[in-house]
Amino acid sequence: MHTCFDCGREMKREILEFTDEVNNEKITFKTEGFICECGRKTIEAPQMEAYDIALANEYRKKK
Ligand SMILES: [Zn+2]
Repeated sequence: MHTCFDCGREMKREILEFTDEVNNEKITFKTEGFICECGRKTIEAPQMEAYDIALANEYRKKK
C-alpha cells in the first residue's frame, strides 16, 4: 500500500499521464504509477524502467 506524502490517503495504482523533459523538450506520455485523490502522482522504483521506456518511446515518436 502506498500512502500519499501530502494528505496521508491511500494511493491507487493506475495508468497515468506524466510530463517530463528530454533535452529541454516537454514530453507527455502514459505509464503506470500511483495517484491520490488530492492529485499527487508518484512512481515506485519497480515502475521506473517502464517510465523511462515510455518517455523514450514518446520522445522518438516526435522526431
Ligand atoms: Zn494525497
